[in-house]
Amino acid sequence: MKRRSLRFRMMLLFCLVVGAFLLSTYAIVYSIFARELRAQLDRRLSEAAEPMVADLATNAPEEDVFRLDLPDEYLELLDAHGTPLNLSKNWREHPLDVGALDFPDGKPVFRTVQGVGGQFRMELIPFQLVNRSVVLAIAGPTRDVDIVLDNFRRVLIVLLPVSLLLIGVISGWFVGRSLSPIAELTKHAAELAQLVSDPRLVDRKIPQLVSHSEDELGHLAATFNELFARVVAVLQQLRQFVSNASHELRTPLSVLQGETELLLSERRSPEEYQKTLEVIHGELRHLSRIVEGLFTLSMADAGQLRIANDELYINEVLEEACEIAVPLGRAKGIRIDQNLEQEVASTGDESFLCDLFLVFLENAVKYSPPNTRIKVSLTRVNGSVLVRFEDQGIGISSEHLPHIFERFYRASGSDSVEARSGGLGLAIAQAIVTAHGGRIECQTAPGQGSTFTVMLPVQAPHVSVSSP
Ligand code: ADP
Repeated sequence: MKRRSLRFRMMLLFCLVVGAFLLSTYAIVYSIFARELRAQLDRRLSEAAEPMVADLATNAPEEDVFRLDLPDEYLELLDAHGTPLNLSKNWREHPLDVGALDFPDGKPVFRTVQGVGGQFRMELIPFQLVNRSVVLAIAGPTRDVDIVLDNFRRVLIVLLPVSLLLIGVISGWFVGRSLSPIAELTKHAAELAQLVSDPRLVDRKIPQLVSHSEDELGHLAATFNELFARVVAVLQQLRQFVSNASHELRTPLSVLQGETELLLSERRSPEEYQKTLEVIHGELRHLSRIVEGLFTLSMADAGQLRIANDELYINEVLEEACEIAVPLGRAKGIRIDQNLEQEVASTGDESFLCDLFLVFLENAVKYSPPNTRIKVSLTRVNGSVLVRFEDQGIGISSEHLPHIFERFYRASGSDSVEARSGGLGLAIAQAIVTAHGGRIECQTAPGQGSTFTVMLPVQAPHVSVSSP
């Protein structure tokens, strides 16, 4: 109904605008035509009067002129006071009122007068007849002009509604044709909206809005498609995230529940209590790591990750992280080789940067077989610092590589107990690096190892810190 009303309104507007334009065009054409016809009549009167005035002014006897009996030429000769001196036969039979005899600049004047059977156009020509001022009045009926104008008016009166009708039909067809893709788009969009809101259908392939045109409607359809694809992707991500998060939280919680139930089921020795409490402590640490990670990510999503602007040496922060990771590596016989000679003074959040480096170091240890090596290096390139973590681990297949920075994503084969860091490490690393204005790259080959490179812009501290 609304759609039709828009169509109707557009049609009406179109008809009104074109109708007004046509009306004014017809009126202008009509008035030009009428003026031209009247001018022609005036010219005809003047052309007829000219030889008569010439004849009268010379020596032709008046009678000869007035004896002429032309059906559409009425003649009268008057003196300067308006007293008739001579009349043609038709004037005598159907007298005409010449009106006042006023001749500005002594030139002939034209006027329209009412006569028997209709209007007459009259020309009054002043001239001298043997030292006497006289006026020749010549008149002709406007009947022919009126008939032509009447016919023309009638044609226009018929033409206007016919043109309006035609315009209405054409504009209705055109507007309808122009709006029909919008109707189609709306229908599709409604279907998509339903699809998006139905949780069972969200995993189905999203039907595309189709517009065959390359115009604004085509762009609108493309934008709609993009929008829906994004909405669906975000929804899928959100659902995946909630399901992954609950899965991650459920595992330690069920371990905690199982352990406490077992502990409470009967009396235990102090050693058993000690052992179970250690398990519980480990699970609680795991849980709090996940929750902290989620908190960090939610703050990053909201753009509220509070990044301190500490003055620091990136190489020192990296050394600190390596110190924490060395014992982890040692437990697996993994050596961490550091090449951190270069001093890089910058500003940033020391604690976040340390966490960031630890993510890569812990992953390198986790995903490397025992007795391998991890190389950590630091290089300066123009205004950036590149921190490289190179391991000889299991590597990542190309199928998993695009997803490793997603929350809770785990490449298959890496879901060992050891790898239970929550699946948020790289997502958090990404958030920290983005907050510092940097980026992460990963080169990897399955079975050969991975190299993660963190690129951070070096923001020189305001107060220069002299190296020790
Ligand atoms: P988590 O390590 O807790 O699973 P991360 O977000 O840190 O979560 O890593 C995501 C996934 O990326 C890991 O599950 C693993 O499959 C892969 N990955 C990360 N670092 C490495 C690495 N150095 N070697 C091989 N795979 C890795």
